[in-house]
Formats: sequence, C-alpha cells, structure tokens
Amino acid sequence: MAIIDVHQVTKVFGPDPESVLPLLNSKVSKEQIYRETKHTVGVNEVSFSVEPGEIFVIMGLSGSGKSTLVRLLNRLIEPTNGIINIHGRNIVEMSDEELRHVRRETISMVFQKFALFPHRTVAQNVEYGLEIQGKSKAEKRVKALEALSLVGLQEWADSMPSQLSGGMQQRVGLARALANDPDILLMDEAFSALDPLIRKDMQDELLELQDKMKKTIIFITHDLDEALRIGDRIALMKDGSVVQIGKPEEIMMNPANKYVERFVEDVD
Ligand code: ADP
Ligand code: MG
Repeated sequence: MAIIDVHQVTKVFGPDPESVLPLLNSKVSKEQIYRETKHTVGVNEVSFSVEPGEIFVIMGLSGSGKSTLVRLLNRLIEPTNGIINIHGRNIVEMSDEELRHVRRETISMVFQKFALFPHRTVAQNVEYGLEIQGKSKAEKRVKALEALSLVGLQEWADSMPSQLSGGMQQRVGLARALANDPDILLMDEAFSALDPLIRKDMQDELLELQDKMKKTIIFITHDLDEALRIGDRIALMKDGSVVQIGKPEEIMMNPANKYVERFVEDVD
C-alpha cells in the first residue's frame, strides 16, 4: 500500500479560498485568478502516491508550488480541498492530538537553512527533535549519537555548529530529522544552499543512507540534475499543477508535453 496518497489537493491563499475553487476547473490561469479575485493558487488539484522506501522528487521552477505542497504533507498549512492519506489515514481530518502523534512518529522535515541553534552543541541540536517525546537525558544522548553516527559526525557531538562547515551543518540537520526514526523525510531544497561539490557529496550520502535505512523521502529541488541523480520518480510542477510524474528516464525520454521537453533539454 502507498505510504503517501495525495488526492486532488488544492491550496488557495487569500481571504475566501473556497470561493476560488469553481474557477480552477476551467482553463483560467493563475495570473487571471489573481487579477480577478486577489487569491493566489499555491497548489492546483495535485494527485500522486508514494510507495514505502521511494525517493520521490518534486521538481519545478521557483513559485511552482513545491514548498506549499510539502507543507501540506505534514499539515503545516491546511489544504483548501482534497485528501492527504499518510499510512492510509487522512491527515486533513485528524485532531491536533493525532496530528502531533504523526509529526512525532511518522514525518520529519529537513530545512534548507539548517535551522540549528547556535548556542547549543551539535548533539543538543539533534536532541531537540526528541525533546517533545519525554525521554530521559541519557536516552536522548544515545539517540542523538546514533543519528550523528549515521551521518558520520559522532566525533563532533560536543562541538558548536559554528565550528562546522555548511555541509556538515546540513548533515546535523539531517541527523536531527533522523533521530526520531521517522518513516517519512520531507526535504525542502535541503541541499540548495550548498556549494556544488559538497552538494554532490550530500546527494551520494543521502543515497547511501537510503540504502541502509529505507525511509520514504520527499525531496524538493528546482535542480534537474539533482532530481535525475537521486529520484526514483520525479513529479514536475508548473504553476501549482503536476505536469508529469515518472522515473527519471521516462521524463527524459518521453516528456509529456512541450513544457517538460524544454525543461529537460539542457541536461547533458
Ligand atoms: P516554490 O516552493 O516552488 O518556489 P511556493 O510553494 O513557495 O513555490 O509558492 C507557490 C505559490 O504560492 C507562489 O505563487 C507563492 O507566491 C504562493 N504562496 C506561497 N505561500 C503563500 C502565502 N503564505 N500566502 C500567499 N501566497 C503564497
Ligand atoms: Mg520553495
């Protein structure tokens, strides 16, 4: 069974989002909807399923709706319409209590800007993700060291974040997300701020980790090379809609339309 099943999900931003829904079925552009209603379409009737253990890449230009979509997946924002099943349960209808449980046990998020606390040690930063779980200090320390060793940073546990390079800091961010042992990792442009060479290293590391851990990873990027390198499947977004979903070779060999064709044209 799919671990994530997104069905006809739409997110409209503005004072009366539901009033805009009838307009989305016709061929009205985002710009036109904004001009006429002052509402922004973030995500427009998106559907897809992800199997356990997949790396599912969501790719698209800036403003195409990637971050909105990933925020919907752990309900940091509420959809205007649609169903989001995680492990077969619609998170849109969950109580706050159930949702907290899902966020604690099932889904972790890795951010682009690392978001480390500068005055806490590396290990304390990783422990932060565990704090809400009511574990003992010693337990937390053990979990944090385990997660740090997964990303090769156990020797840096008691250093401060500022002593680490950008790539290492991002690995701490990854360790923090892994410390809870979630089923699903959401990574929104997690490597986009890194230098190209370090970025390649991180991609390799993520693939190696994935071999060991078999998480389900939703990986957001605007970079086609990165998408092709790490994605088991790729969803290409444009203006809030998914224009094609496929394995990297399918996207390259059989672009669904002119837009995809132009998108993949420049790859070596
Ligand atoms: P991406 O991550 O692909 O760059 P986003 O999901 O951030 O794209 O944005 C998609 C669209 O939704 C953009 O037009 C953006 O301006 C709009 N949007 C995102 N968040 C908000 C918000 N909080 N309020 C209004 N519009 C938003
Ligand atoms: Mg974004």
